[in-house]
Amino acid sequence: MGGEWISSSRALPNINPSDTNDVIGEFAEADAALALSAIQAARQAFREWSRSSPQQRFDVLDAAGAALLARKDELGQLLAREEGKIPAEAIGEVTRAGQIFKFFAAEALRVGGEIVPSVRPGMSVEVTREPVGVIGLITPWNFPIAIPAWKIAPALAYGNTVVLKPAEMVPACAWEIAKILEQAGLPAGVFNLVMGKGSVVGEALVSSADVDAISFTGSVSTGRAIGARCFASGKKFQLEMGGKNPMVILDDADLDNAIAVTLNGSFFSTGQRCTASSRLIVTAGIYDKFTEGLLAQMQALRVGHALDATTQMGPVVDERQLAQNQKYLQIARDEGAQVVGGELLKLRSPGFYMAPALALDTENAMRINREEVFGPVASVVRAKDYGEALALANDTDFGLSAGICTTSLKYATHFKRNVEAGMVMINAPTAGVDYHVPFGGRKGSSFGPREQGTYAREFYTSVKTTYINPL
Ligand code: ADP
Repeated sequence: MGGEWISSSRALPNINPSDTNDVIGEFAEADAALALSAIQAARQAFREWSRSSPQQRFDVLDAAGAALLARKDELGQLLAREEGKIPAEAIGEVTRAGQIFKFFAAEALRVGGEIVPSVRPGMSVEVTREPVGVIGLITPWNFPIAIPAWKIAPALAYGNTVVLKPAEMVPACAWEIAKILEQAGLPAGVFNLVMGKGSVVGEALVSSADVDAISFTGSVSTGRAIGARCFASGKKFQLEMGGKNPMVILDDADLDNAIAVTLNGSFFSTGQRCTASSRLIVTAGIYDKFTEGLLAQMQALRVGHALDATTQMGPVVDERQLAQNQKYLQIARDEGAQVVGGELLKLRSPGFYMAPALALDTENAMRINREEVFGPVASVVRAKDYGEALALANDTDFGLSAGICTTSLKYATHFKRNVEAGMVMINAPTAGVDYHVPFGGRKGSSFGPREQGTYAREFYTSVKTTYINPL
């Protein structure tokens, strides 16, 4: 923080979820006082950085992006070791982060404004954008490099300064990002990393009058609480929270594609994606063939140590999440669902392993279909036709991503227009997005402007309208 690496009195071991004997390192745990120092450093750095030239911002962000891309294999291995996703996914995530930094490097050069004729004779109007100030970023563990990247890069590109509070479970990835930004030539204090508890460091960010805005990604309950606190203290805020994303499979779907898309959407990254397909809504004519095919491929997925070359699905991130997944499987059984898979697995290395699970014969009203599980667990709901499938897809408190598998342009078009979600996927997994277009949802999933692409500027800038009377 403030351009220096400060150790704290407390440190916590960082455990590999694939092998609990593997300690990645001891990482500092900051207290509220350190968080406040970081906020002060960001506040002090703001004056200069907010006036820095677009070229300077471009150079730093471009260099950070280049470093991420150059080190994608090594950082991907670290990410896989720390979070538990397999290297192909982890390297893909680091690559994505590099691309995001490069995208926002160029965005720094594109901050323009408008000159608009006034409706009043002789006057003119200018619409310009300014940085918001000190931004607090609070991020989750499931994309420990990409999510910080898609918040840090636009924040810096538009001239803000940053305090990042990463999730407790992924300090190593956050530390690497901070080092990369330092090496990219970012002036001291413009970016500050504070590792520690949400209830301490996160809370310090949310309650500080010196923080102008908070961008949060995480659970619904934490997000709502943070939103209420931000509103009360007059902060700008943006929340990305959960999903209960529907994937509709219609009778006329390409069966192989529907199975592949669902396998990916529901179980890749161990289902630990807010865009994961957790409700599979399947029409009657394809129900048996689809569930049979999906079950066969799901049960064939090789679960194992994330860094084993043959592994297709790594462990669950930690013991608490594993217990939560198991709890929801029991809830589904108690509600009358038939659960296939989901067993706890004892493998060669001690880790948080479970088999992927599918809950069959579920009703949309069941808790397993209302609440986010955040694991390799999907459920299947039977629909009599497209109309009922769409109604079921929309019958949820969430609205992040929604998919449909169909070969009918009519249904695809109708679904695109009528499904209540921020992102719609046609014959493609609900998870897996591009970085140059908006990301976000509706209803209980999101609050505030979209993230990513040029839309990110809505959150990370403040619009100023100036009226000029030339006299
Ligand atoms: P998860 O259940 O997936 O860990 P959370 O919403 O609890 O999701 O965590 C997302 C981020 O929010 C993490 O960085 C966490 O430390 C942080 N956080 C948790 N509680 C608070 C809080 N009360 N105030 C601010 N940040 C918090």
